[in-house]
Amino acid sequence: MRIILLGPPGAGKGTHAGTISALKSVPHVASGDLFRKHQQEETELGILAGSFMSKGELVPDEVTIRMIEQRLGEDDCWQGIILDGFPRTVTQATALDQLFASLDHKLDLVLYLAVSEDELVRRLGGRITCRNCQTPYNLVSSPPKIENVCNQCNGELYQRPDDTADAVRQRIQVFTQQTIPLVDYYTSKGILTEIDGEQDISEVQRALIAAV
Ligand code: ADP
Ligand code: AMP
Repeated sequence: MRIILLGPPGAGKGTHAGTISALKSVPHVASGDLFRKHQQEETELGILAGSFMSKGELVPDEVTIRMIEQRLGEDDCWQGIILDGFPRTVTQATALDQLFASLDHKLDLVLYLAVSEDELVRRLGGRITCRNCQTPYNLVSSPPKIENVCNQCNGELYQRPDDTADAVRQRIQVFTQQTIPLVDYYTSKGILTEIDGEQDISEVQRALIAAV
């Protein structure tokens, strides 16, 4: 099964990707996580991506598409995938269609998590993320069991530099301008399901599982 998790920053994509990934036994591939891994490893791509990420802007399509194409070419992605954070522009969506077509793969479902701007700002203001496995937590809605320690891997939790107020505002604006057109793009293909992402984490999870 090939699924895209679509939604603004803070909608809950990273929170729920693991559940769907386990349910369908397919890997979770998050473009933001891949960029942050490159940043940690101080690769050329990581340094380039970091200059856009810190400002809340999108990394250029060409570089992003190349990175995802490479990841999707790996063996574990052959049977299926949960894509999180990619595509984010119509150019990226078209490239993904072409890639899937060339591999004779089908995109099954796009799950669109809709959340209001006020709620996104609230959530991202309280988000802490594992430096190691990138699991997101929230100081208010889903704190870790032990302060600053990841439940999954015991990694250290930190506040992402792009979760500051200015960068969050910019990222939401970028989503509205560049990513929202994908809702029409996938609706017209008949594969988009909208989920009310504003509900409690457990209710969103129930709705996502039902849709999958
Ligand atoms: P995304 O991956 O879409 O950017 P995350 O999954 O990292 O978003 O979630 C953003 C923040 O909001 C995290 O701190 C997370 O714990 C919290 N969160 C996610 N879903 C909900 C929800 N339904 N209600 C309240 N907080 C949530
Ligand atoms: P995320 O972890 O999904 O919130 O992404 C963090 C940042 O990584 C974004 O604000 C962008 O700068 C960059 N990024 C992630 N995915 C993409 C993408 N598909 N296209 C361009 N930039 C991206």
